[in-house]
Amino acid sequence: MASKSFDQLDGEIWYNGEFVDWRDAKVHVLTHGLHYASSVFEGERAYGGEIFKLRQHTDRLIKSAEYLGFEIPYTADEIDEACIATLKRQGLTDAYIRPIAWRGSEMMGISAQSNKINLAIAVWAWPSYFDPEERLKGLRLGMAEYCRPDPRTIPSFAKAAGLYMICTLSKHKAESEGYTDALMLDWRGRVAEATGANVFFIKDGEIITPDPDCFLNGITRQTIIDLAKKRGIKVTERAILPEEMEGFEGCFLTGTAAEVTPVSEIGPYKFVVGDIIKTLMEDYTKEVTPS
Ligand code: PMP
Repeated sequence: MASKSFDQLDGEIWYNGEFVDWRDAKVHVLTHGLHYASSVFEGERAYGGEIFKLRQHTDRLIKSAEYLGFEIPYTADEIDEACIATLKRQGLTDAYIRPIAWRGSEMMGISAQSNKINLAIAVWAWPSYFDPEERLKGLRLGMAEYCRPDPRTIPSFAKAAGLYMICTLSKHKAESEGYTDALMLDWRGRVAEATGANVFFIKDGEIITPDPDCFLNGITRQTIIDLAKKRGIKVTERAILPEEMEGFEGCFLTGTAAEVTPVSEIGPYKFVVGDIIKTLMEDYTKEVTPS
């Protein structure tokens, strides 16, 4: 991770159709997105100059905005082109791409019907989400203090800023207890996901992962399910109770930033980094590498 503050990096940011100097890509303090979380974003990675599953990310960004009741004023083609152009402009081939759309300042209150919808895209170098050495040994996760909310209480399937409030709180608590991340249960007490990645388990040579019925069905998650099936590994998506983790042998996280990251421990439960996980880590690296 960059040691410099993120507003002090170099280069340019795509901002409402133009490139602006990195340090000038600002918002006013009276921005609806800041006060009321009317903001949606994406996290993408480029490998060897190509953004992995770019169109799927762009489609999800547009869909997330729809969940929040606004329309991004650019087409999917335009957003794709802008992401690629920003990557090139930054002179990077292996990088993280962060498009973000938000309601502006025209109205400042709960209602924001006529606020301008802004879109910005920033690209920076970001080698590994977790410390590379720790990653291979497997991460240690605590149990989160917050749970993933009922879809009747919030648009759970949007990649929206407001849904990350409980993730930051849960991750901070886990870090203060010496863990790297936290496992969140859902509103029914079932295993859901980590604070910024989906979770998978291994038992008797098979993969088990929670149904994504109140959290993001991650693009990496879907990729890993396909890769596992191609290897002939059985994948079951179902409700998982926390006590079941006692009998699981392996565990790993998936996400654009996290990629495929083994887990060695979740609270009292211990896991080993076995062959299936190592194989899927390699398969994922091959999958994201342009031919
Ligand atoms: N869940 C949460 C809460 C996330 O932030 C992410 C990262 N976007 C994921 C799951 C994984 O999604 P993806 O594989 O599409 O990056």
